[in-house]
Amino acid sequence: MICKVGIGYDVHQLVVGRKLYLGGVLIPHTHGLEGHSDADALIHAICDALLGAVGEVDIGHFFPNTDPRWKDVRSTVFLEEISKVIALRKGKIVNIDSTLIAEAPKIAPHIKEMKQQVANALNVRTEVVGIKATTNETMGFVGRREGIAAMAVASVYMPEDQEY
Ligand code: MG
Repeated sequence: MICKVGIGYDVHQLVVGRKLYLGGVLIPHTHGLEGHSDADALIHAICDALLGAVGEVDIGHFFPNTDPRWKDVRSTVFLEEISKVIALRKGKIVNIDSTLIAEAPKIAPHIKEMKQQVANALNVRTEVVGIKATTNETMGFVGRREGIAAMAVASVYMPEDQEY
């Protein structure tokens, strides 16, 4: 087996009239993230990191926002689908680490549950999933609370004879 690493980044706009889902957790807030699915930026970044690690195309190609199948779908479904792709390729997720960048709301109280949601969807132990959070120190679009960004890395053990 060889260890492959992938990177992911995502950002969604904060708007009124949408629910805020981050890491699979519904968080009470004045605004939610705009998008075709539930717009869970953290999960989308994790999806791209996992897809990158196994040499796949990005989440936008995998789950197109023109496909009605993914309209308003919970992003944990994307993780479940990617977990199947990794299993088909006989891969094993080593670890995931991620950072949410949001000015508000407070993320820390929800991190434990987010780790559980992500781990459950991927069928891995919660210790495999790292989630951290920071603000943007009031600077830029995140600082102005116009959006929330997330970045992630993932490492996956893959059979050495796998063709990419
Ligand atoms: Mg996204």
